[in-house]
Amino acid sequence: NKQVFLRNYVSGFPKESDMYLVEGKITLKLPEGSNDVLLKNLYLSCDPYMRTRMNKVDGPEVEGFNAYILDSPLTGYGVAKVIESGDPNYKEGDLVWGFTKWEEYSLVPSTQIVFKIEHNDVPLSYYTGILGMPGMTAYAGFFEIGSPKKGENVFVSAASGAVGQLVGQFAKLTGCYVVGSAGSKEKVDLLKNKLGFDEAFNYKEELDLNAALKRYFPEGIDIYFENVGGKTLDAVLLNLKLHARIPTCGMISQYNLTQHEGVTNLSNLIYKRIRMEGFVVSDYYHLYPKFLEFLLPHIREGKIVYVEDIAEGLENGPAALVGLFSGRNVGKQVVVVARE
Ligand code: NDP
Repeated sequence: NKQVFLRNYVSGFPKESDMYLVEGKITLKLPEGSNDVLLKNLYLSCDPYMRTRMNKVDGPEVEGFNAYILDSPLTGYGVAKVIESGDPNYKEGDLVWGFTKWEEYSLVPSTQIVFKIEHNDVPLSYYTGILGMPGMTAYAGFFEIGSPKKGENVFVSAASGAVGQLVGQFAKLTGCYVVGSAGSKEKVDLLKNKLGFDEAFNYKEELDLNAALKRYFPEGIDIYFENVGGKTLDAVLLNLKLHARIPTCGMISQYNLTQHEGVTNLSNLIYKRIRMEGFVVSDYYHLYPKFLEFLLPHIREGKIVYVEDIAEGLENGPAALVGLFSGRNVGKQVVVVARE
């Protein structure tokens, strides 16, 4: 059973060598009387919050943010096939997505399964992305927290990533004007030419982010979908309209810093009566059936597209995960452990 272990806790940017590959053993038979499920992992999801779990101390008091255990497999979202189940809700051959471990086969409590996969006429890897946790994040954050209205101006950071690419497309479906920022020319082209954003820019090439936002939003921003924090958030605060909303999804630019950068323009929240609302996707999983009903037809008709960055093999997992923090991934970063 090939596994990826965490070698040491991390401070600063994570490196591939913070993880190591192990050839472990697992009995592919459920222990007598067990209620757990035995899974064959197919696709693993690389997610930015995994970095916060590499800190020695537990993260915020939210389920799933506790520190990883050293010399044990990483855990995270993934798509898997049930080999044997002690829980009557699952049976051999079922495809599921939820919390699993970075290894070929896993024995996990059945409560770690988030949903059974009922529709497999779309790529299975999509359940680590557009039809999984990041998809739900974009959906809940944009529609539930953002309360978008037709004609509003939307700005998305980390716009070509797993979450951002969908927020932009949801904004277009709602009839909004949408601009995205990303860290390379290739990503900017993707946003404009494939993902339907009205405009996009490379934040690394803008010396003055405030000026860039003024250029794209002369009348101001109604919704800022926050993925990065730091300097981008600070510049956005100067460019929000009255009663703007900031679905506060993530702040990836701060995850590797020992001390977070100051946001100097925060008082704009007051003057402009802005709602900046943090959210954790798992609070919205009750909306999953509604989400599938909304999204599946759009995928099947090609009205929503999804860009994935596929790393082949568990041994390439650490590099893929670390790559999130240098922007090496183009689209949703997935690791393929097995295809069936
Ligand atoms: P992505 O697929 O977008 O990958 C991360 C991207 O972030 C990189 O490709 C890179 O793109 C960008 N990035 C990395 N470092 C920086 C930096 N210092 N400054 C600006 N951009 C940076 O990740 P996801 O779509 O999965 O996640 C996006 C955000 O959503 C994250 O903050 C994540 O923590 C958050 N999230 C929150 C959830 C919730 O429940 N609240 C659930 C899921 C995700 P580029 O080349 O453009 O810089």
